[in-house]
Amino acid sequence: MYINGEWLKTGQTFSVSNPATGEHIGDVVDGGQAQALAAIDAASEAISSWSSATAYARAEILLNAYSLMMDRKQNLAELMTREQGKPLKAALNEVQYAADFLRWFAEEGKRVYGETIPSARADQRFMVRYQGIGVVAAITPWNYPISMLTRKIAPALAAGCTIVLKPAEATPLCAIAMFEILIEAGLPKGVANLVTASDPRPIGEEFCTNPAVKKLTFTGSTAVGKHLAQAAAPQLKRVSMELGGHAPFIVFDDADPVHAAKGASLLKFLNTGQACISPNRIFVQRDLFDTFIQTFSARVKKMKVGNGAEPGVSIGPLVNAAAVDKVAAQVDDALRKGAILHAGGERLEQGALAKGHFYAPTLLSGVTPEMRIYRQETFGPVAAVIAFDDYDEVIEKANDTNYGLAAYVYTQNLSRAMHAFEDLNFGIIGINDINPTSAAAPFGGMNESGLGREGAREGLAEYLETKLGGFSI
Ligand code: NAP
Repeated sequence: MYINGEWLKTGQTFSVSNPATGEHIGDVVDGGQAQALAAIDAASEAISSWSSATAYARAEILLNAYSLMMDRKQNLAELMTREQGKPLKAALNEVQYAADFLRWFAEEGKRVYGETIPSARADQRFMVRYQGIGVVAAITPWNYPISMLTRKIAPALAAGCTIVLKPAEATPLCAIAMFEILIEAGLPKGVANLVTASDPRPIGEEFCTNPAVKKLTFTGSTAVGKHLAQAAAPQLKRVSMELGGHAPFIVFDDADPVHAAKGASLLKFLNTGQACISPNRIFVQRDLFDTFIQTFSARVKKMKVGNGAEPGVSIGPLVNAAAVDKVAAQVDDALRKGAILHAGGERLEQGALAKGHFYAPTLLSGVTPEMRIYRQETFGPVAAVIAFDDYDEVIEKANDTNYGLAAYVYTQNLSRAMHAFEDLNFGIIGINDINPTSAAAPFGGMNESGLGREGAREGLAEYLETKLGGFSI
């Protein structure tokens, strides 16, 4: 826990373990409401000097942090694999993605331009200025334990805000490693504070009700996001919500089914399916269905499951035993209701896998709206494939969800691609592309997938207040 420029190393602790081996990998100080309050006080104290520092001075610290991340890329990735479970190659990719936010917002912070607006009155001038919103409280999940931090910290600091962050209980060590970097990069005391905790509720409560907090930014499940947005509403705090998803992945009959199956399998099993933009319903036009399933199933059967630190492993563990139970329950429910199993469909508990939380990469077809997996976010290595016949049918089915984060379309027809891009009600749409994300591009969802955007100009605007000056001259 890091508050007001000091590491708190004593007090009650909670334990952190490796989800692949069950091995104990660290103990972390367990904070509560008092520590959240102390951290908010520190951030309030620091706001005046940080917000009045130049964007250039703030950028220098963010760029130092970027360089330190690059120097420690391998160490950070190995820590992430140990703590969160993703294969080392994916962890290295995440460290780079995370660092990109620091570099991009360091630059973009220098471009918070104001505006002058002509007035209808000859003796009046309008000037618009954008300024940091103040103290920000941030809550992050475990599935992307470093990039979800920098996606909030970098724009907040670039905008002149100070921040208090609570990482997920499962991945505090990655957050601690990132704070060590920020401190070494030269961040003044109080500007960023870290509160680790095994029980998030008192911290969330303080974040939502303390009047010094001007903005709450949350990434996590839709249920918790709704709860926090409600708790923050009485003070009309600004909120950003990056929540769950249920992405459709649509393969039209003019696409190359082999290429599409490769894309779908890479994306579906990324991070063992524990990604908010993971495809949850894969719609394949009937003519391509058999080739698609054959290719997909052959790829799934070749995937190596295990400890992400071992070479060749592409599927790591799930975060905990409850996550395995949820996946198993969804698969059992689908099979009971008539889905066809092409690969996987079982817990993996043999040999070295016994101590971790593993579920076999699974391919189901014949998935119908009556099955839980059709609507519930899966968050595990299960691909659900559904055949369709025409454009209108598939767009209607794809949009039939309360979520609205990501969607994917495979087609070689430009006109169809453009129509689908316009007709799908999702915040992020990959067209023949399985990675439509970048620090420079706005990330976020519609409907119950959230409020606001992260990354890009939009991601900086989330931390800025607009101020209008009307000058009579
Ligand atoms: P979660 O259970 O909602 O937890 C997210 C964070 O909120 C954790 O730090 C958690 O702390 C904390 N939290 C839980 N209950 C809280 C409460 N009552 N008050 C304050 N904080 C609370 O979600 P998760 O299981 O960690 O993450 C998976 C979810 O995140 C999925 O739905 C996924 O789609 C979504 N996600 C969305 C995006 C996006 O950009 N849209 C990105 C990544 C993940 P503890 O860890 O201590 O419980």
